Amino acid sequence: MKVYKFGGASINNIDRIKNTANIINNHKSDKLLVVISAMGKTTNALEKVVEAFFDNRQEDALKLFEQIKESHLNVLKYLVTINWQEAENKLKDFFTEIEWMLHDKPVRSFDYYYDQVVCCGELFSTCLVSQYLLEQKVKVTWVDVRDIIRTDDNFRDAAIDWALTEKKIHEIIQPLFDEYDVVITQGFIGSTDENESTTLGREGSDYSAAIFANLLSAESVTIWKDVDAVMNADPKEYKEATIIPALSFSEVIEMAYYGAQVIHPKTIKPLQNKNIPLYVKSFLDPSLPGTSISSAVPKNLPPIIVQKKNQVLIRFKSKDYSFVEDKPVEQLHELYSNLKIKPNLSQNTAISLLCSFDDHPEKIEKLAGEAAEIFDVEVEKNLTLLTIRHYDEDTIEKMTNGKKTVLEQKTEETVQVLMR
Ligand code: ASP
Ligand code: MG
Repeated sequence: MKVYKFGGASINNIDRIKNTANIINNHKSDKLLVVISAMGKTTNALEKVVEAFFDNRQEDALKLFEQIKESHLNVLKYLVTINWQEAENKLKDFFTEIEWMLHDKPVRSFDYYYDQVVCCGELFSTCLVSQYLLEQKVKVTWVDVRDIIRTDDNFRDAAIDWALTEKKIHEIIQPLFDEYDVVITQGFIGSTDENESTTLGREGSDYSAAIFANLLSAESVTIWKDVDAVMNADPKEYKEATIIPALSFSEVIEMAYYGAQVIHPKTIKPLQNKNIPLYVKSFLDPSLPGTSISSAVPKNLPPIIVQKKNQVLIRFKSKDYSFVEDKPVEQLHELYSNLKIKPNLSQNTAISLLCSFDDHPEKIEKLAGEAAEIFDVEVEKNLTLLTIRHYDEDTIEKMTNGKKTVLEQKTEETVQVLMR
């Protein structure tokens, strides 16, 4: 049994859905648990629906939702020829559920409504893909993942109840493979024991795939993407970017930590715990080898380059030229945790503390304002944080050329440069 995950880009139009279905069809003899995200940018569009609803702009919310409905019905019309009625009924049941809610007034938290509405993107997309596969005579079944993945009620960032989820997977999912070659289900979503929908955080479908793989002891997980493989840098920013054929789990965690948008960071641990390899492959050209990620540590990795733009440097200086002591630093950390903000880089000098953050303007303003009671505060915006793993001088030179270094930190494996 293998787990496949397809993201929004792999199903964002009819040709791509057919392409995805072909990949599944070509590998069905492996027995596949397939986790799929919402089509294209549907999740973003659904976020707009919830925002309008929560703002008491009910008409806007319904109108925006109407567009999402239509685009899915339109895909269905051209994709499915035989059993379209059955698929349409199923979609319409989901539509009704959401519209019923949108006709109410919001009385619970934003995050609660977010999850009740946004979860439908994955329900729609999986419905379309599985219906198409059915027409291709694949022995496929569709599962509502909310009957399987049990979470707490921390909406928008729900935590998995592993014991209950494991039980459901063994009771419900495993026996399906006696009858079917392919089980299609949704990434990103789950449900509480009160049957409320939950989501696992944006881009969470990778994580869903890892949960299934772990609890089914799958042979492997393949994440199908619109890139040839994991690259050592963003090819749009760095012309000499190359593909990396193999990576270790810990390297991927490091890359994610420094801001590389390879794979959802929560994905790795469930796989590492059971030593299940993860393949990143191109859905545009499945014949390419892609990248394999496992516990084996490859030798001679190229320099891996991650750039985070829109960084803000805050200089916290002691007000009276005394050394920066533990107490004010503790207060500062309290501010961080209240504002849910974390520095990406920080460095002490005798009388000041320099920290670089992602620029969330409201949070930064609050932080600077409140910290001004403890320190003299200076804020500098529009910086870039460059991280190079497995660096060499040549690459540092190339990447910092023409920039002014504001702060630099080096360990044996990693260099970080904050640049102007
Ligand atoms: N559809 C969700 C999102 O766009 C989950 C995912 O794509 O992994 O965040
Ligand atoms: Mg996605």
